[in-house]
Amino acid sequence: MVIDDAGFDAIVAGGRVIDPANAVDAVCDIGIRDGRVAALAPVLPRPPGVTIHDADGLLVVPGLIDLHTHVYARATSYGVDPDRVALRAQVATMVDAGSAGAGTYAGFHAFVIEPARTRVLAFLNISFPGIFAFDRDVMVGEAAHLTLLHVPRCVEVARAHADSVVGIKVRLGGAVSGDLGLQALDKAQQAAAELGLPVMCHVGRPPPSYAEIVDRLRPGDILTHCFRPAPNAPVDDARKVLPSVRAARRRGVLFDIGHGMGAFGFDSAEAALADGFAPDTISSDVHGLSVDGPAYDLLHTMNKLLNCGMPVPDVVRTVTVAPARAIGRPQLGQLAVGACADLALFRLAEVALRFVDVTGAHRDSARLLKPAGMLRAGHWCDAQPRPWEFPRKADGG
Ligand SMILES: [Zn+2]
Repeated sequence: MVIDDAGFDAIVAGGRVIDPANAVDAVCDIGIRDGRVAALAPVLPRPPGVTIHDADGLLVVPGLIDLHTHVYARATSYGVDPDRVALRAQVATMVDAGSAGAGTYAGFHAFVIEPARTRVLAFLNISFPGIFAFDRDVMVGEAAHLTLLHVPRCVEVARAHADSVVGIKVRLGGAVSGDLGLQALDKAQQAAAELGLPVMCHVGRPPPSYAEIVDRLRPGDILTHCFRPAPNAPVDDARKVLPSVRAARRRGVLFDIGHGMGAFGFDSAEAALADGFAPDTISSDVHGLSVDGPAYDLLHTMNKLLNCGMPVPDVVRTVTVAPARAIGRPQLGQLAVGACADLALFRLAEVALRFVDVTGAHRDSARLLKPAGMLRAGHWCDAQPRPWEFPRKADGG
């Protein structure tokens, strides 16, 4: 490791650094200068004046990426404020999953991406208005009308916003895609192919079936809500992963959690994990109807998968390097020298907590990743309170 003489603005000292992109899992110091990672070594020199963030006993990981969020706050009824949710879950990058389409993206850029202190990227919806009527009382599908699925306008707006558009979003299932079903996916894939970007495809209630959808997905495409409960679960009645799902993974299709209010079931997750099928990416699908439970945020969702048996380094991979590569931003989610100094610190603690999935099923935690502060481009942010973290009531209490 080369350490130059310019010194550091800050050092994150003595934590267990887990950086899967660079095969690092070791106790070491990270030197920060000008908002970037300047050095990584077992022990760095600590001249007077340098800020020390003591990470003794903590996990230090690259800035988290939440691959599926809805943060078009105020312009959509279900959009949440990206900074508020990102701070409490210690997330560096929020990727919006199709809240805006070609007709509404300019507002998303001006009113959300530019003012946010959090890095916000987006999958552009193939549907012109984006997800425009997703509410407790009003649900109208944006992918059920062919006239809304306008490929040339989608391509044009994605090109105009190439700095923030990382892929094309489409939702399939039930009333969302209506009689069009897989035709909506065809349109999204047409646009994505012209752009050289991936499609993020939502699997909802059938039709179409889970297998019909994944059979169409191409290498690099992302299936979100991958561990949804039946109907349209990823496993069969014998709790084995569907052959179409395995074939899709072999082809390079990615499987994303996208918890949300209706798309994460412990039964599906536990069956898939027991059959050797872990998700490629963990994401929250945080929005107005999931931010106060059952999904809450990315960290809560990570803790659910941790307690389903995923090892800590695997959980870290699914929220750092894996989503970074999925969206074609390999400079994010890793801590090589020169990378943006987005880091998150966690304490792995034994905490009794009751997790609830979208069906109301519950599981009790054994371990919890608890926030211990984060760095955003080198700037320290204190850990924030989490609404979901509270002592579990005693049985019968
Ligand atoms: Zn969503």
